[in-house]
Amino acid sequence: MWLIIVGAIVVTLMVLVGIVVGPMLGWKPLPARAALNDANVIKDGIVCAAVVPLGPHEAALIDAGNDVEGKAISAELARQGLTPGDVKYILLTHGHRDHVAAVHKFPGAQVMALEAEVDVVEGRSNGGAPILIFMPPKPMGVKLSRLLHNGDEFDLGPHRVRVFAVPGHTPGSAAFAIGENLFMGDSANHGRDGRLKGAPWIFNDNTAQNKQSLVSLARRLAADTTIKALIFGHSAPMERGVEALEEFARTQERV
Ligand SMILES: [Zn+2]
Repeated sequence: MWLIIVGAIVVTLMVLVGIVVGPMLGWKPLPARAALNDANVIKDGIVCAAVVPLGPHEAALIDAGNDVEGKAISAELARQGLTPGDVKYILLTHGHRDHVAAVHKFPGAQVMALEAEVDVVEGRSNGGAPILIFMPPKPMGVKLSRLLHNGDEFDLGPHRVRVFAVPGHTPGSAAFAIGENLFMGDSANHGRDGRLKGAPWIFNDNTAQNKQSLVSLARRLAADTTIKALIFGHSAPMERGVEALEEFARTQERV
């Protein structure tokens, strides 16, 4: 019983942190919905998920939201004339509960994340973020069907997917370049000043590693002109390309 009470308190705190701390940290808030270069980003409470149509009756999700009922995702699928059975792929930027809650609603989907994230995704580990210290790991019924690795590339419908390991927020955090979008999960955020920000220490396993991963990602994507938007888990998408990452990397070099 005490575990349930502590869990409820921690979940409430996390929601409050998402609502209160986000603005305090200077993040640009998530819009209810944003259409960006073939991806439809939808707000699900404190977090976003994205629906990427791949063809008739075929779509991919990037993350699966905070709502175990998946209502916002299902509504967006319906808006696009799609059904839950049309979701063939789910790419998880990482395994925190607020990004995987509705995976179980799409049993026909191939579920992918970095191999280094398996224990977090499948609920055997929380990673080591300070905010999660009183929150025991809890399986959410997610089982990975495909393990990804840094540097993987593959096609999903008309889109080329490029996989980048960006450890720090969690051990197996990933960024996915899909078409013209770079999905960054919780590894970065959109500041109200229009700049990219690293993830706050209280949510991270390792904040120094998070910053280093963003600097490395900026180097790896240097001169990439295909990316037109950066998409984050808890703040508004940023309609800038890789130069926003390069700008972040320059501020780190000065530190
Ligand atoms: Zn997270």
